[in-house]
Amino acid sequence: MHTQSTAAVTVATAAAPGIPASSGQRNPGDESASGAPQTAEDICPECQGSGKLAQGSCANCGGTGRIVKIIGDA
Ligand SMILES: [Zn+2]
Repeated sequence: MHTQSTAAVTVATAAAPGIPASSGQRNPGDESASGAPQTAEDICPECQGSGKLAQGSCANCGGTGRIVKIIGDA
């Protein structure tokens, strides 16, 4: 008896290309990598958090509407 159904792995695409991931991606407006110490997400000053500009998707935040800002020590 050979079980051949073990290869039935769900090959689902986790994220469609074009949809920006919430982490692991740096945008021009990011001051540091996401998840780095002394950083926090902030509203993108270019698009005010909308992720869009008049000419289309905001390049500063990559269309996410948020940037990673370095807080530093207070
Ligand atoms: Zn933006």
